[in-house]
Amino acid sequence: MKPAVGFLSLLLVCGGAQATEKAAPKSVATPPPQAVVTAPRTLDELIAVMEREARKAGVDPATVRRVLAGFERLPEVVELATSQTEHERTVAQYVSLLVSAERIELGRSRLGEHQRLITEIETRYGVDRHTLTALWGVETRYGAALGTRPVVRALTTLALEDLRRPEFWRGELLQALRIVERGDIAAVGMIGSWAGAIGHTQFMPSTFNRFAVDFDGDGRRDLMGSVADGLASAANYLAHSGWQRGEPWGFEVTVPDGFDYALSAPTPLRSLVFWKERGLKRAGGDALPASALEHRLLLPAGANGPAFLVNRNFGALLRYNPAVPYALAVAHLGDRIAGGGGFVKAWPDEPAMPRADRQELQERLAALGLDTGGVDGIIGSLTRNAIRSYQKTQGLPEDGHPSPGLLERLRAQR
Ligand code: CA
Repeated sequence: MKPAVGFLSLLLVCGGAQATEKAAPKSVATPPPQAVVTAPRTLDELIAVMEREARKAGVDPATVRRVLAGFERLPEVVELATSQTEHERTVAQYVSLLVSAERIELGRSRLGEHQRLITEIETRYGVDRHTLTALWGVETRYGAALGTRPVVRALTTLALEDLRRPEFWRGELLQALRIVERGDIAAVGMIGSWAGAIGHTQFMPSTFNRFAVDFDGDGRRDLMGSVADGLASAANYLAHSGWQRGEPWGFEVTVPDGFDYALSAPTPLRSLVFWKERGLKRAGGDALPASALEHRLLLPAGANGPAFLVNRNFGALLRYNPAVPYALAVAHLGDRIAGGGGFVKAWPDEPAMPRADRQELQERLAALGLDTGGVDGIIGSLTRNAIRSYQKTQGLPEDGHPSPGLLERLRAQR
């Protein structure tokens, strides 16, 4: 499934993203090469293609011509879409940037201001008030940063000029036109991120049309102008992504000495009884709570960093945006807004790995016959599995974590 929102997905691709700039969905970075051949390059060509696509999608082709007439390109969005960010951050840096004392305080006060609304949304969709407030805080600083770019202009520019993924942008542009046609938000007033994410909780247009709700009952799904519509739509998205009412996202745990870190592979999820039998406890020393939900062990910074047991609610946050640092930031900010403390275990003192190093790590693993799914600098599940296999041969904890130390070891091995 595509990410719901535009924010921060470049984390997966680049290991970091600016908090002030919305990033494109991960899929943007891995284009189908054949798209280059057929992409319309002029506005007239684009309008012709879009009219055909609109007809197929049940959007009035006249809307295409009307909204795109007088189009002026927005040059900076192409640069934003195609540049590889140099802002490399570790999970620790990323989480502490987003879960700042200021954002925690502001979250509490925003929750207080909107208590009645957020309670109603919680009751309707089952997503707890703290997580929902935190998501709002991470996406747009509680509505203070909705984006500055005209969405139709941005998406049209990208559809014409981002030759790596023109079909993706045309699809989002078509969905933006559908929003206009339905009267939810007018084309001129539709402002968002450079990638076209809209409103308080930054929905891409395709997500908007599938999951946005009119919670304040004025007949329009106005994710920009209405806090009620924005927050309820996010809750609706999470509910459709498997969010389980009445359950937390997970919690920090301590892992006993001698633990088999191969169990930190993302699947399968296991019962809390399973984890209890292997000696895991809540950070701080309490026994694991009772929960019917299955959990997996998450080690965002490897065996030397904080460890978490996370469940399907954490998975729902990852469907909102498929980057562990993002989901952990939302989850933790929610806990902090609720009055919880910081992480018990310190993050390891380890620098972020630049893309070139991540690629070299993959190259060296591949040279040992391990499948990393390519040498793209993206640390996905295949690369993590390859790391686990290598760690096993070295008698290291099999945490699947790419670290500068691991790269050093691989370099020394030639
Ligand atoms: Ca409304």
